[in-house]
Amino acid sequence: MTKILLIAIAFAAAFWLLRNHRRNANRGTQSRPDLKAEDMVSCVHCGVHLPRGDGISAGQHYFCSKEHEQEFLNKR
Ligand SMILES: [Zn+2]
Repeated sequence: MTKILLIAIAFAAAFWLLRNHRRNANRGTQSRPDLKAEDMVSCVHCGVHLPRGDGISAGQHYFCSKEHEQEFLNKR
């Protein structure tokens, strides 16, 4: 009888550990979009905000499109 009890306790412990592990994994994925949102740049020409990865970089400046990069460079 004690064997069955021990097995039951082992199963409960394993289930509890698995649930905790899954909760930690979910927390990890939730914090990622926040990090991405901070990484924003603004177009030097029109001022629109966009993710750094979507922008076109020319030295220290960022542009929302190739057209705005050309217009900015033509003005100088
Ligand atoms: Zn622009």
